[in-house]
Amino acid sequence: MTDWAAAGALAIEAVSLQEVSLPLVHPFVSSRGREIERRFWLVGVHAGGVAGWAESVAQEEPLYSEETHATLHQVVVAHLLPRLFAAPLAGPRAVAERLRPIRHHPMAKAALEMAVWDWYGRALGTSLAAWWGSMRTEVPAGVVMGMAASIPELVDTAGARAAEGYRRLKIKIQPGWDLEPLQALRQALPTMALWADANSAYTLGDVGHLAQLDRLGLGLIEQPLDPDDLLDHAALQRRLATPLCLDESIRSVANARHALQLGACRAINVKPGRVGGFGPALDIHALAYRAGVPLWCGGMLESGVGRAANLQLASLPGFTLPGDLSASSRYFTQDIIEPPFQLTAGGTLAVPAGPGIGVTPDAALVQRFSQGAVEWHRP
Ligand code: MG
Repeated sequence: MTDWAAAGALAIEAVSLQEVSLPLVHPFVSSRGREIERRFWLVGVHAGGVAGWAESVAQEEPLYSEETHATLHQVVVAHLLPRLFAAPLAGPRAVAERLRPIRHHPMAKAALEMAVWDWYGRALGTSLAAWWGSMRTEVPAGVVMGMAASIPELVDTAGARAAEGYRRLKIKIQPGWDLEPLQALRQALPTMALWADANSAYTLGDVGHLAQLDRLGLGLIEQPLDPDDLLDHAALQRRLATPLCLDESIRSVANARHALQLGACRAINVKPGRVGGFGPALDIHALAYRAGVPLWCGGMLESGVGRAANLQLASLPGFTLPGDLSASSRYFTQDIIEPPFQLTAGGTLAVPAGPGIGVTPDAALVQRFSQGAVEWHRP
């Protein structure tokens, strides 16, 4: 374990926000709609000649949570940066504490908090995984498949992903695209770990229908009900043999604690960008680990910067299930890091061993996909 105090207090000198738009290889279709590009803010925290990096995960429309690409920028600039510039930070954990007066907006907070963690990792010369005491150097990779035009097309794609070495397939489901495609996949790939993500497309009234999925031996069903319906998830879990997993419902450490106490899930998808950053993600890890509830690391179609951050987190011992952690080429023809992430022969991704998140955005590649950049300096 590294003593973070060795890097001293961080007096942030400047924060840069560069808007990046990366075209997706294939449009990604879920019950929330269709995405053709991944637009995000590349956040840089600058001090003492060291830069820490993170990428934002809010989407352009508030279909995943209430935050958007635009609100994130507005909240960061108007409300969060003045608080970070106000006084030096004693360490990365101080960010969440400093930003606590601002209600919610976990994605906006995470974009800054994770860049500060990366800054500390680089200043100390340690990867975040090593800092947190993680012993794993690689993590099993899983892949998400958006909705396909037809079941044969879905089965073909699934076969291709299995051949590439992915150990777990997850498909997006919604009423009308659930039982049949999952049955077809189960038939085509009898031993594959198969998951289903509904992104809140169902209600508790669908319990009879969802119970039919029990016979397919799914690893889990992710977020079937509304994000605010923890009680309904608990009621549904009591009626299903298949473990439920929560994603959109878990936006804070308190949400995770409540879900565990209520029995609303038997697994949690942790995305550091969704819960306010690495600090809250580490706290959720500690809670779930004690409760014996397995975790896995989800994805928000991140570029290599966010992917590297997720891999640091996914190396922790409580992350026992394969994450939505794929090779860069799965989503992008060109990533903004070099080299891009590739799947190992064993169907894993290596946890970057360099300092901080372990990768650095390539300035020329960032420039190629940049929509503009602004830098704010400490007053
Ligand atoms: Mg999900």
